[in-house]
Amino acid sequence: MYFNDLNLIEPIQKALTAEGYEKPTPIQEQAIPKLLQGKDLLGCAQTGTGKTAAFALPILQNLASKKPLKKEKRQIKALVIAPTRELAIQIGDNFKKYSVNLRLKTLMVYGGVSQHPQTKQLKRGVDILVATPGRLLDLINQGYIRLENVQHFVLDEADLMLDMGMIDDVKKIVQFIPNDRQTMLFSATMPQEIEKLTQSLLKDPVKIEITPVSSTVDTIKQEVYFVDKGNKTNLLVHLLKDEAIESALVFSRTKHGADKIVKSLGKAGFSAQAIHGNKTQKARQRALNNFKQRKTKILVATDIAARGIDIAELSHVINYNLPEVPETYVHRIGRTGRSGHSGVAISFSDHDEKSLLRNVQKLIGKNIPENTDHPYPLTNKPKKKTNAKRKKRYPSSPKKNFSPAAKQSNQGHNNKKRRRKPSNASNKNKSRGKRAYAKTR
Ligand code: AMP
Repeated sequence: MYFNDLNLIEPIQKALTAEGYEKPTPIQEQAIPKLLQGKDLLGCAQTGTGKTAAFALPILQNLASKKPLKKEKRQIKALVIAPTRELAIQIGDNFKKYSVNLRLKTLMVYGGVSQHPQTKQLKRGVDILVATPGRLLDLINQGYIRLENVQHFVLDEADLMLDMGMIDDVKKIVQFIPNDRQTMLFSATMPQEIEKLTQSLLKDPVKIEITPVSSTVDTIKQEVYFVDKGNKTNLLVHLLKDEAIESALVFSRTKHGADKIVKSLGKAGFSAQAIHGNKTQKARQRALNNFKQRKTKILVATDIAARGIDIAELSHVINYNLPEVPETYVHRIGRTGRSGHSGVAISFSDHDEKSLLRNVQKLIGKNIPENTDHPYPLTNKPKKKTNAKRKKRYPSSPKKNFSPAAKQSNQGHNNKKRRRKPSNASNKNKSRGKRAYAKTR
């Protein structure tokens, strides 16, 4: 199938040809005809499948067909919400590229930068708005944005919005959009909360599932290197010296870890930059652009900062740390091997990460081959608790007294203990969870 077969108008076809697109991807092939008919859509597709064009092209075609009255101020007629600034910028850039031959205006609004340039553009009028939820809600509340003319609404990476605690903001935003609209929701996974959201937002949607999140693309060569935690940087430097690695996206579990890796790589003579939530929007965009333009060879990222970013022809993805959530592995390695190119995904695993590796392998349904050809094999054994330590923590239990009275009093004692411990532990875990999440953003 060619784009000609999809009944797209000439100005859009011309723009696609200029972009070098020849054939629609499977999600485009399936989604575009249905969306042109005005249907709602529930899309389960990874980034890299061409899902942006799948929703952007029908929106543009629809908006282009409705000629505005002369001198009428542009109103927001299409709204796309994305969880991260990078993704919003990327989606907005795509809309702009596809609409070069149309008289439609796209604006991106996101936090972390001054709102002034954004409000200036809003005052002039825009047709398509791509936004992150926080800044969007803020600008709605300040009266800069009105959504009562929105006819097309896209919610991208809905599951990530849930993970990032943005769903309540999204629900508030939806209240400003007319019910009579076309809605498209994309989510790589379908947790219960998202399922509920789809039921409340979508009307009789067409469901399209392209690549299940558990599957990895066959063009990606996957390898695991077992290495001690303390030798991971040495191994990374060793691998990066390999000429075949033109550009590598390295994933770190924490923001601090990402900065440390960049520092070590700098000392070893490599050009590397980090992208994570502690960096300003400018610094993040600069790091991303430098990497895309091959000015830096290595981009070190945390999951949330990197999700959805599109880098053409990325040769290597390196998991410096294995992810806690196995689905994240699939998202990470999906940054390479895009649009039919081949790619290599390398994972480092120390002793403590072996269970994470097992979870990943279970999810993707295959074993990741081990590469033993490196100078830093795993040597440290997992620490075992010595008997002496155990004895100290658990002194020999007192002789048991099985008399009914003693049993009663023992139970009371145990219950007290049981009651106290889990609540402490769960509180601790909660705050640990929050801390861990904050570290990864
Ligand atoms: P996405 O999944 O929307 O992030 O798209 C992934 C990449 O594929 C982007 O760089 C798009 O520009 C590119 N792309 C999307 N559709 C096509 C197509 N039909 N032919 C070639 N490249 C495409």
